[in-house]
Amino acid sequence: MSRDVTNLLYLITIVTFILALRFLSHPTTARRGNWIGAVGMLVAIVVTFAQHAVVSYWEIAVGMIVGGSFGAVAARRVRMTAMPQMVALFNGVGGGAAALISLAEFHNLAPDPGSLKTDISASIMLSAIIGSISFAGSMIAFAKLQELIRGRPIVYPLQQPTNALVFAAVLAAGIAIAAGSEQQWLIWVLVAGAAVFGVLFVLPIGGADMPVVISLLNAFTGLAAAATGFELENNVLIVSGMLVGASGTFLTLMMGRAMNRSVANVLFGAFGQLAPAAAGGAVAGATDGQVRSATAEDVAVMLAYAHKVVFVPGYGMAVAQAQHDVHALAALLESRGVEVSYAIHPVAGRMPGHMNVLLAEANVPYPQLKELDEANAEFSRTDVALVIGANDVVNPDARNNTASPIYGMPILNVDNAQQVVVLKRSMNPGFAGIDNPLFLNPKTVMLFGDAKESVDKLTSSVKAA
Ligand code: NDP
Repeated sequence: MSRDVTNLLYLITIVTFILALRFLSHPTTARRGNWIGAVGMLVAIVVTFAQHAVVSYWEIAVGMIVGGSFGAVAARRVRMTAMPQMVALFNGVGGGAAALISLAEFHNLAPDPGSLKTDISASIMLSAIIGSISFAGSMIAFAKLQELIRGRPIVYPLQQPTNALVFAAVLAAGIAIAAGSEQQWLIWVLVAGAAVFGVLFVLPIGGADMPVVISLLNAFTGLAAAATGFELENNVLIVSGMLVGASGTFLTLMMGRAMNRSVANVLFGAFGQLAPAAAGGAVAGATDGQVRSATAEDVAVMLAYAHKVVFVPGYGMAVAQAQHDVHALAALLESRGVEVSYAIHPVAGRMPGHMNVLLAEANVPYPQLKELDEANAEFSRTDVALVIGANDVVNPDARNNTASPIYGMPILNVDNAQQVVVLKRSMNPGFAGIDNPLFLNPKTVMLFGDAKESVDKLTSSVKAA
């Protein structure tokens, strides 16, 4: 295949990736976006295979069969709630692949003195450092989220100076390579040092910050892939790597903003290392209130005679897989003339867009989903806010308690509604591990039980009301 044809096909691939991102940004077109991106990737692979530079097809085929089968089985089997750790795992192997290519390129080019040009050695150095950090950091993120190691921040004395020292050593090895040193041991020091840094840098991060870090590591992998593209002189790798790098960076910033945290605070703030007792200082003041529990029949009467009901889904709805039942209850209320909408917090659940995906799966009409600001504007004219397995995202401490670890995070102000009903199984805290004074608010009643069972009971009781 001539170079012009190859570049033309690569250009088409790049356009498909950009279109894929465009379509992925809206739930109604996301599926199409995924397909377009996948087709683009297939074209890129076929075009790359058609190059004369390929040394051994069968070795690549074995790798593709093993990796592709693992990926397909894992993607089909993964529970929606375990998606963040799967993203971490897949992202990490991408970074690892970029680092391995750098090792191989350095090994191939360095023995031939003078063959390593500065631009290539700088690219090798960058993809080795960023790829190794991304690989090792993502593996620690995976282990934390999968609860293979402690999920809370792991902190110890002189942590930041140690990290800075390791990073400085990695940087020194990198500068030596970029300056033209062709010593093989240098690249090994660089890759190993960067991997150690990746581990150390993710250890002190925990709790709700993990997805933000995964998104950041995802951006790193993109940049490592782009640097690999310069090494291999492959345009499609450069552009697709930069697209991943840029979109990962945007996602990181947007998630940080949704939690009212700067990226620096996420990386160095060791969120969640406070003991729940310390974190709940102002909640202790609120314990004068009492938890009131209600039956499904009581709540059904509230719902059946309301003018406006707002459903507030959270992680518990995902665990209970109650989305179809929630939609059935909403439809029943609508048929009785009740105005229904859904308030979606950007970090409800365990991954960005988690609630949107589940509700779309249950065919909830998209216009009924209200984002944070729009939803908050509606609570004051809402009769019942029905909180289904959400906790942190409706915790008023984020608004009122400066001592709370989630202080400053924008929340859904369900306590502005006339009545609040919370569906959960117990008084256990949510992801942040802190108490929630909403449950003690005189406006609030608790309907204890599995969300799916509770919603089903509500539906039967509303029918009977
Ligand atoms: P939370 O984790 O704060 O609370 C979920 C609640 O659901 C729990 O209190 C639990 O209470 C209840 N629950 C669990 N299982 C069931 C069930 N089967 N039936 C009924 N209730 C159930 O969830 P939120 O969605 O409010 O907040 C998300 C949290 O996760 C935030 O802290 C966010 O920062 C963090 N996070 C967000 C990510 C994202 O990108 N969206 C990713 C990772 C973390 P009980 O056990 O009593 O039933």
